[in-house]
Amino acid sequence: MFTSLKGRSVVVTGASKGIGRGLAQRFGLAGCKVLVVSRNLGEAKSAAADILAAGGTALAFEADVTRQADMQAMARTAAESFGGIDILCANAGIFPASPLATMSEADFDAVMATNLKGTFLAVSACLPAMKEQKKGRIILTSSITGPVTGNSGWAHYGASKAGQLGFMRTAAIELAPHGITVNAVLPGNIFTEGLRDLGQDYIHSMEASVPMGRLGSVTDVANAALFFATDEAAYITGQSLVIDGGQILPESLAAMAV
Ligand code: NAP
Repeated sequence: MFTSLKGRSVVVTGASKGIGRGLAQRFGLAGCKVLVVSRNLGEAKSAAADILAAGGTALAFEADVTRQADMQAMARTAAESFGGIDILCANAGIFPASPLATMSEADFDAVMATNLKGTFLAVSACLPAMKEQKKGRIILTSSITGPVTGNSGWAHYGASKAGQLGFMRTAAIELAPHGITVNAVLPGNIFTEGLRDLGQDYIHSMEASVPMGRLGSVTDVANAALFFATDEAAYITGQSLVIDGGQILPESLAAMAV
């Protein structure tokens, strides 16, 4: 049995939709106070309302992870509203497909700005509050794409997701003396609004490549993130956990024939 997270202060970036919304709801259900962050305040408010309706505590906040001033305002709001920051889920991310043959500099920069620089800005903004408390949990949403696998059209995305893990390893070393852990969840193909936008053909091909025969749910990812946030995970830092229904295991489609 894990120690309760009731009353912990949590910041989730990219929490209006998809995995971030699932993270926010899961931490809300665990009794945490959740700052629901996205660029669209209306959608953030709707996600926060769901948490409130389930009996939790939540506040919506409009911010763009690519802007340092927004991230600093986000951290200030969480610290002032909830009395500190115990947990940061740096989750906001984009995955527009773009084959190398047509990928522009702007395409590459946009993905890096949100996925990699956004991770750095969210983490660094929340550090002062965590250092003051001499404890904290940082959980990055990376991906299997980049750190473990490749996928045509997502070279920039894969680089950004692998980059998050490079960032994580050094951050984990620097922050360990402050009682702060930094870990990452690596989702496979999780059914979210963002994934739905990639179309039915993409979804069917992914379902066929997952040994468990289904896409993951946002709750599957949120449960893993919740574990990294527990007191019992205090001695785990700089690590990543794949949540993919076994997708990275087969050497080929034939390997799944039984
Ligand atoms: P999604 O459904 O498209 O949701 C993305 C979220 O990020 C939204 O809340 C969006 O809100 C927010 N966001 C995007 N850019 C932002 C910015 N600049 N500033 C603040 N918020 C921003 O995506 P998802 O599938 O849940 O993906 C979430 C994370 O999981 C990403 O890091 C992604 O790389 C990772 N991931 C997803 C999968 C998957 O299968 N779905 C697999 C592996 C990894 P606004 O548009 O309102 O700002």
